[in-house]
Amino acid sequence: MLEGVGATARPVRRPDELAQVDALVIPGGESTTMYKLANIFEMFEPLRERVDAGMPAFGTCAGMIMLADEIEDGIEGQRTLGGLDVVVRRNAFGRQVDSFESDVDFTVLDRPFHALFIRAPWVERAAEGVEVLATVASGPSLGRIVAVRQGVIMATSFHPEITADDRVHRYFVDLVRSS
Ligand code: GLN
Repeated sequence: MLEGVGATARPVRRPDELAQVDALVIPGGESTTMYKLANIFEMFEPLRERVDAGMPAFGTCAGMIMLADEIEDGIEGQRTLGGLDVVVRRNAFGRQVDSFESDVDFTVLDRPFHALFIRAPWVERAAEGVEVLATVASGPSLGRIVAVRQGVIMATSFHPEITADDRVHRYFVDLVRSS
């Protein structure tokens, strides 16, 4: 998806790989495992330092959890990198079987985005300096915040990388270029 919108994408697994990139995408997966592995591979502090130092970052789903300053329903001792002044609730929409697809109104995009939510978190609270980019447009979770941006850090509850629609990635790459 990133290559498709004109960026050069590289996997980042080690501190020396992190040092070579201008920006970071933290994908979906499982935030508790990411936290554990980041520690084992000695990536947690380097990641935190880069985010603190102003590296643009985009988190999707578990990535959103990693970039939240505060989380609800994390496991015992689960820490995050932070960067977004928000409270994010893990598994907010329910269990794996409650995964769903829905259109979201995305403020900076020309028309709604068809979003895939896989045991997704939502943003429970966002501080004043945080821009709400998208909310759920229909159904029982109507109005829930599912995309935010604060400066050069953004996050979505859903997975734009598994759709054919590249507008969210394009928006992020533009943000990186203008930073
Ligand atoms: N439920 C996962 C977590 O807590 C996130 C799921 C996902 O990234 N699709 O980290």
